[in-house]
Amino acid sequence: MVFMNSTASSMVQEGALSEAGFRIDSGFHKNYFVKLKIQSEGKIYHGLNRHMTMDDVIQFASDLYLIPLDQEIPGFTDFIGSWLYKGDRTLLVDIGPAATVPNLVQALEDLGVHTVDAVLLTHIHIDHAGGIGDFISYFPGTPVVCHATGIPHLKDPTRVWEGSLKTLGDMARAYGPIRGVPEDLLQDAAQFREFGVLPILTPGHAPHHVSYRVEDFLFAGEAGGVYMALPDDGVHLRPATPPRFYLKTSVQSLKSLLDIPHKLLCYAHFGATRRSPEMLEAHMHQLFRWAELIEAQIQRDSGPHVVEHCMEALLKKDPLLAGWPHMKGAVRDRERYFFHNSIKGFIGYLSDKAEKNKGKS
Ligand SMILES: [Zn+2]
Repeated sequence: MVFMNSTASSMVQEGALSEAGFRIDSGFHKNYFVKLKIQSEGKIYHGLNRHMTMDDVIQFASDLYLIPLDQEIPGFTDFIGSWLYKGDRTLLVDIGPAATVPNLVQALEDLGVHTVDAVLLTHIHIDHAGGIGDFISYFPGTPVVCHATGIPHLKDPTRVWEGSLKTLGDMARAYGPIRGVPEDLLQDAAQFREFGVLPILTPGHAPHHVSYRVEDFLFAGEAGGVYMALPDDGVHLRPATPPRFYLKTSVQSLKSLLDIPHKLLCYAHFGATRRSPEMLEAHMHQLFRWAELIEAQIQRDSGPHVVEHCMEALLKKDPLLAGWPHMKGAVRDRERYFFHNSIKGFIGYLSDKAEKNKGKS
């Protein structure tokens, strides 16, 4: 895919990157500098034969790569990806949508991957699992691990596709249609103990959300929020809490993750950090902060612009969102879209809670 990345290019000084100690080969496209800074704890993998303008694979450890799957949707760069663990076993965490399966397959080929021992799906939303049926046609016989309740929907994705069309519209069409997976390949994450994989059930972003630990890597999907590294060691961290959202469930999932020893926290969106458990804890506090701020807002504001007003209040009071106004236009718009969705999740949760309390009094 010839789809240039330009995220944050205006925010980053090349000099600062060199100071960070990365070796930067001359001749690489300027986007490499940006990628390095965005994924501040990984480095670009230089071994690829692919055309320079394709999405760049980022290496985080000798056996861990992040394959970015940039979409043909404005702002959807450095947002969706597939994690490749290439140790004594070869595992993929999430696969992305159908639209970018050819890119993923090309990247795997360039990285010398000929067989995959298992695909671990954090959840079956279209941006994480929509391409799984297509992927299996390239890598037949690969076991696919997901939450038990996701299994029937991967076998017959009709409802997931219809639901995606309804909630995402053109975005779903850009991600591409979902093809089914042969039933005998589908495995229940809760029972899966092969290849040194530890599954951790982490409902919240979706009721069927699963995280996985492999070695010292914790693949948290969206249970730890949506992460973006920013210049000068800054981060953008946003809850991924679409309706229906349950605060206690999400907090409990974060506690489950905090109980798991790990050295690198790998996000589904996007990148990884060694600042864990710090980031998981920060996210937990953030969920409580959002609940408090949004509750205060909806108590005095039931108008048609309540979501926008909540966002304004959050931007003022949540330091983890301080980078949002400085993002490039399309990325900022993308974040605004998901921001709104996450706020709607909180509003639904808080309204339900208020209803229940009314019932009690
Ligand atoms: Zn997602």
